[in-house]
Amino acid sequence: MTERFGLPRTFLTATLLFSFACSEQSTPATKEPLAGSAANAPPEEMAASEETSLAKSGDSQRSVETPSILLIVVDTLRKDHLSCYGYQRSTSPNLERLASSAMVYTMAFSQAPWTTPSIGSLLSSQFPTSLGILDERSVLPEDILLLPEALHEAGYRTAAAVSHNFCSAKWNFDQGFDEFDESNILGHDKVTSQGITDRGIDFLNRVTGEPFFLWLHYFDPHFAYLEHESYGFREGPEYSGPIESGTPFKELLRMRKKVTEADIAEIRRLYDSEIAWTDREIGRMLDALRERGLYEDMLIVFTADHGEEFFEHDDLGHTKTLYNEVINVPLIIKPPQGKGQVVADPVALVDVYPTILDYAGVPVTTKLQGQSLRDYETGVPVFFETDRKRKLHGIVQGNYKMIYARDLDQYELYDLSSDPGEKTNLAEQRRDVVRKLDRRLKRWSEQIAQPANAASTELSPEEVENLRAMGYMSDDG
Ligand SMILES: [Zn+2]
Repeated sequence: MTERFGLPRTFLTATLLFSFACSEQSTPATKEPLAGSAANAPPEEMAASEETSLAKSGDSQRSVETPSILLIVVDTLRKDHLSCYGYQRSTSPNLERLASSAMVYTMAFSQAPWTTPSIGSLLSSQFPTSLGILDERSVLPEDILLLPEALHEAGYRTAAAVSHNFCSAKWNFDQGFDEFDESNILGHDKVTSQGITDRGIDFLNRVTGEPFFLWLHYFDPHFAYLEHESYGFREGPEYSGPIESGTPFKELLRMRKKVTEADIAEIRRLYDSEIAWTDREIGRMLDALRERGLYEDMLIVFTADHGEEFFEHDDLGHTKTLYNEVINVPLIIKPPQGKGQVVADPVALVDVYPTILDYAGVPVTTKLQGQSLRDYETGVPVFFETDRKRKLHGIVQGNYKMIYARDLDQYELYDLSSDPGEKTNLAEQRRDVVRKLDRRLKRWSEQIAQPANAASTELSPEEVENLRAMGYMSDDG
């Protein structure tokens, strides 16, 4: 068990586990049936085909004590837009099916609201400040033992396919991987989910029995928001405003002062279309595991690096704020032979690394800032941060969430149980809570010391322009 800064801890006495609602709707009422998708196959048929494949593959002899591992990260994916988290549109039937045999975390928090620090934290179990990742030029340090390196040292074959510069080899994210595919880094106006799944299946076709760790990074829900024909989600009256499939981000930002409810609904519809397309491709990947008899015995972790703002707090995009639409991410962990359960305790993406090592039976040999979720302790605060535009630190403990603006010395306090949209700042009324959380936040910020030699990369003018078109770079609106 790793310690998260030696904070006072009480041992887990009652984890909040509920029977998972989605498991009762594993074949949801899709408006548009996914032709040929496993999600719509009758359950008994699937069970039969899985058994057959398992017998054929001979993999049933392999011990689950060293399970193969699939880590799926979808860029810019809001938890509350997933049907497996209760969203009204059927955006994620394949994830619903995964969730039906998995731990589903409803209060998982990424450590930062943009790609490099968030995925950096996920793969290192270190907070962004400890990694020295502060802006777009910051790269992952080389002297930290990353999750793929730890698994590789333990005998795992490791492979990754990524689709965003910010988690590419140039930013040092290839450390520990035997294979690292970047052929799907094609920018924000291309569709790449099929390419990522193709790379994943290609890898499966080449593995030969040793345990493997495969990381797939999908990017399509990131703007620009593109409509996919089979996932139109067209309900209600026809929209006739300025938003179109593929409207550049800069234009969306220009519209932000006069955006209407209908415009926002249209942006959400396009975004949902991208999610459903990505879910389809994730489903194809999971089916490939089922066909090979690998699925049941595997550890599968699904999450997102951050979400997206749709004007809930007067802005669009991500990187600048720490509200739940960007920081409260989906987290679904299917252990080998997993059962469906919902966990409502706050947890963090820095917890994923020790959790994976725990399931893999690989000892922790370096200091991690997260804790394994297999045997975790409730009441431990969860922290996150950003240095973009504003210097913000955030903490969630129990029902309360506090955001501290270091540049303005201002506090926001929300009771997430009664105000999940974070609209009513209770900082003045509940100074007692602010004082308590502030003490914890200060202690944490003293412990995430920034490295003296934070590394960065040079960006070409083209790279700067591409990143700007995606809403990044410090001087961007
Ligand atoms: Zn991202």
